[in-house]
Amino acid sequence: MLLLGAHFSIAGGLHQALLAAKQYGCTALQLFTKNSNTWKERIVTDEEIDRFRQVREEVGITAIASHTSYLINLASPEGQKHHMSKEALIHELERSASLDISYVVLHPGAHMESGEENGCLKIAETINEVFDRVPPRETKLLLETTAGQGTNIGYTFEQLALIIKHIKDKNRVGICFDTCHTFAAGYDIRTPEAYAKTMEKFDEILGLNNLQLIHLNDSKKGLGSRIDRHEHIGKGMIGSAAFKEIMNEKRLENVPKILETPKGKGETDYDKINLKVLRNMMVERY
Ligand SMILES: [Zn+2]
Repeated sequence: MLLLGAHFSIAGGLHQALLAAKQYGCTALQLFTKNSNTWKERIVTDEEIDRFRQVREEVGITAIASHTSYLINLASPEGQKHHMSKEALIHELERSASLDISYVVLHPGAHMESGEENGCLKIAETINEVFDRVPPRETKLLLETTAGQGTNIGYTFEQLALIIKHIKDKNRVGICFDTCHTFAAGYDIRTPEAYAKTMEKFDEILGLNNLQLIHLNDSKKGLGSRIDRHEHIGKGMIGSAAFKEIMNEKRLENVPKILETPKGKGETDYDKINLKVLRNMMVERY
């Protein structure tokens, strides 16, 4: 079954994201389990958990990812910031597990001039501490590929491999492949040949079995620009061919695919358009 969805809002309650996904005919979705721009934690009540579970059964969607707060930086050299980041990740994993959410997506971190390798090791070490404090559940922590903007880590497959290498419980981690980020980081996927090469590299360095979630975004900025700006599918610098490859990739058939393209503020329903564009890409081939 095709697992395709988008990031949906939780305004009005966590279950609203599920209802929105259903409305768009989605079979997967991503949400925030709290306000992503603040440190303030959100305690989910038993009532909210029950409601979420009930609506989830009604809509029949099981491929659900939560995206961590943008403030979390596990590589921060600042003591207080690092501590807050660790605590926030613990809260996120616990909250997501209580909601039976399968994946928690994390931007690995920014080294803030403390060095890339140093940053990778600090991230791994922190994740080990986090796992020690959160009992193992079904929920997996996914490190997202980044564009490498500023001092962000995770813009090369090697950096992600280094982080995973130092994580003790490897069963609890995986990778979220963001098409916009990897492209901005310098991995070309614009032609079938370039796509095959990038995937081969991913498989060699990280292993395709570790690719557990895909963020489908076109890019406003060019190859290797190291700038993270999402664009509508087929309307950016990546173009349609890459997405046709992904949508028809047998090896990624069971990997949930999530849109994070701009929602737009006017009358146009961009999620509807982008989802249709992607679905049509599959029909075109077969
Ligand atoms: Zn993403």
